[in-house]
Amino acid sequence: MDSGNERMIRHLRNEGYLNTPKVIEAFRSVPRELFVPEEARRNAYDDYPLPIGGGQTISAPHMVAVMTELLEPKKTDVVLEIGAGSGWQAAVLAGLVRKVYSIELEQHLADFAKSNLMRAGIRNVEVLPGDGARGLPAHAPYDKTIVTCACGKVPDALFRQLKVRGILIAPVGGPWFQELKLFRKMRTGVVEENHGGCIFVPLRNK
Ligand code: SAH
Repeated sequence: MDSGNERMIRHLRNEGYLNTPKVIEAFRSVPRELFVPEEARRNAYDDYPLPIGGGQTISAPHMVAVMTELLEPKKTDVVLEIGAGSGWQAAVLAGLVRKVYSIELEQHLADFAKSNLMRAGIRNVEVLPGDGARGLPAHAPYDKTIVTCACGKVPDALFRQLKVRGILIAPVGGPWFQELKLFRKMRTGVVEENHGGCIFVPLRNK
């Protein structure tokens, strides 16, 4: 019989969310059950978000698949993530890029993400507690930026810290509904694509 992870991957392929062989391989290598709280483990491979404490959620598998595919990950990429949460999105990216820096506002979730990543044996993700709206100047510029919490407008600092020809994806909109937007930073300005509706927990500050 298939493992839960294989069942989930088959579903994501059948629905057209997962397409690229290397992205499928990255999903295989980081079982989602390692990134959900103990009590949610039996639902780890169902395609919806799950609570991870403090009103926050681990994203639904199809959303992680779509965002990972859209980011066009390359082995040489240095990626900035805003909203580490469980660490699963960062873990999937880790198999596809050189380095992921992931900022998390809540200290207890930063700790949760770190211990999940360690259990999964992932070494090229650095989780940093803090406010992601400021980005992370210390390691800028980034090849790719992924925002996994909803914002009314993408913080300017994130565009400033993105390389020219870099890609930034973010759910942009109100607290209950957003559009998944992809931005390509060009020398002449930013080109924007819309990738449909989505629902993320909001980007907050303390
Ligand atoms: N990528 C995560 C899902 C994150 S849910 C995963 O794979 O599980 C969104 C996360 O963004 C929450 O953990 C929330 O605490 C965090 N967050 C909200 N506002 C933030 C901010 N200003 N800076 C950094 N993280 C933030």
